Amino acid sequence: MYDLHTHSNISDGTQPVDQLVAQVAASGLSGFALTDHDSTQGWERAAQAAQEHNLDFIPGMEISCSWRGISVHLLSYAHNPAYQPLTQEVEGTRQARLNRARAMVDRLAEDYPISWELVQEQVADPTTTLGRPHIADALVALGAVESRSQAFKQILAPSSPYYIHQPALDPARAVELVRAAGGVPVLAHPRAASRGKTLPDEAIYQLVDAGLGGLEVYHRDNSEEGRAWLLKLAAAEDLLVTGSSDYHGAGKPNQLGENQTSPETVQALKERVTSGLLD
Ligand code: AMP
Ligand code: ZN
Ligand code: FE
Ligand code: FE
Repeated sequence: MYDLHTHSNISDGTQPVDQLVAQVAASGLSGFALTDHDSTQGWERAAQAAQEHNLDFIPGMEISCSWRGISVHLLSYAHNPAYQPLTQEVEGTRQARLNRARAMVDRLAEDYPISWELVQEQVADPTTTLGRPHIADALVALGAVESRSQAFKQILAPSSPYYIHQPALDPARAVELVRAAGGVPVLAHPRAASRGKTLPDEAIYQLVDAGLGGLEVYHRDNSEEGRAWLLKLAAAEDLLVTGSSDYHGAGKPNQLGENQTSPETVQALKERVTSGLLD
């Protein structure tokens, strides 16, 4: 079985790629995808480590998107990482993330002894995709909260006065770009209501029209009714149905392999890849 959604410390996971891959091997999974936010930087190391551990590796990326003020995550599998129209958009989001994080820190600094330097100290290196998790880590370092999860609940939630929406790529455009780059776009946790607003049905249909390849149905944040609706949509539109953990190391309670994807689905996914990356 496969876990198709994991994060390393290239974005907001807490482990370096090698450690993550070693853990995948120890967990008994036969393969996995590395899906760091807005970055493909871990692909080479992950591919090499996977080979050493005899694991099947699918390169992936979780693209930050935004639709009418709603945050949307699109998983991209095995796209050509050198396809400029996509990489330029994603690089733009990474830069915008810095401004947004700085602005959030400015707001927080009115009530907490937090500084931009302290947030910087929480990231593995300057190329890390920065986000709220690193601000959360700074709040933990200050002793303001005990964990990332507590920071997200009590201080960094979308409803909080410190929260600033992350401007990002339109999801339909992202779907088209991933396709053009030969990858397979899969909508991440589409019915994760606990995170805030999710895409309405009509917007998901638009993504299907744009070339969406699959739905991440089995994810801990999707509601039961949401899953049932997604399964119906997948059957009607011939979309892949994936299951994944969204593992972030110690940063989230999600356990590696807690939801899985079958080898048959992975095979079908590979057959939809046109970048040549998996040949
Ligand atoms: P951002 O993209 O900067 O708005 O931050 C949201 C990201 O934080 C999502 O991708 C979540 O997966 C991630 N995250 C990491 N750890 C946690 C946590 N403990 N609780 C909630 N979200 C988390
Ligand atoms: Zn994350
Ligand atoms: Fe996500
Ligand atoms: Fe994720």
